[in-house]
Amino acid sequence: MTERILWDTHGHLQDPAFDEDREAAYQRAADAGIGVVIPGYTLASSAAAVALAHRWDGAWAQVGVHPHEVANLPTDWLRQLDAWAQDPRVVAIGEIGLDYYRYLAPAAAQREAFAAQLALARARALPVAVHCRAAWEDTVAAIAAVPGVRGVLHCFTGDRDQARAVLDLGFYLSFAGPVTFKAADALRDVVRWAPRDRVLVETDAPYMAPVPHRGRRNEPRWVEDTAARVVSEQGISREEGFSALVANSIGAFARLAGHDAN
Ligand SMILES: [Zn+2]
Repeated sequence: MTERILWDTHGHLQDPAFDEDREAAYQRAADAGIGVVIPGYTLASSAAAVALAHRWDGAWAQVGVHPHEVANLPTDWLRQLDAWAQDPRVVAIGEIGLDYYRYLAPAAAQREAFAAQLALARARALPVAVHCRAAWEDTVAAIAAVPGVRGVLHCFTGDRDQARAVLDLGFYLSFAGPVTFKAADALRDVVRWAPRDRVLVETDAPYMAPVPHRGRRNEPRWVEDTAARVVSEQGISREEGFSALVANSIGAFARLAGHDAN
């Protein structure tokens, strides 16, 4: 087996954007030593993530309902998530959170679903992967209301104060393509400042492709471009930096430490 050099800790390989070349996109990452964590965003996409995690040796799943998708859930939605949460290939409840930017679901419904999924994660001793957009205070308050829950703030693009709040909650900061964008000096300042043992990288594929792929459909293979930029900002060697990112990925999502066999 290829040695694992990195994890893409957040890549939606079940997304319809990969319908034409899903296997090939996974294989390009696997051949480069990149493992993939596939987060759900609906019940159907969570089921698809679990299925892919059982099909591919180098893929793991998260199950959860994204804040855009929390309206009109079936009454047994939490029971479905709970059943998947007991699968050893499921490393976290995600992606979950709050999004007050697009408001595709009412804020009250978002808060209710987020709280319920945080409670489920704690009950199953699983971490969470959190999406937060224009909802900073409510997101921090919701997490703080469930003591003991740990996880990752995915696609972190905030400032140092926000990063400090995330770290104080015991969370990791996960950086995606934006860290490579020309105008992102403030975000790179956070990367340089952040404790090296609390940093992860991800693609958020099919979105947010890093430079030099910006504007194209993103894919897990390209997490290496983001990782290279993070490590160079940290001022450490690629070897040291990448092995820290792998260790942090397992620190955040303990089930990644399980061996690769399905
Ligand atoms: Zn995502």
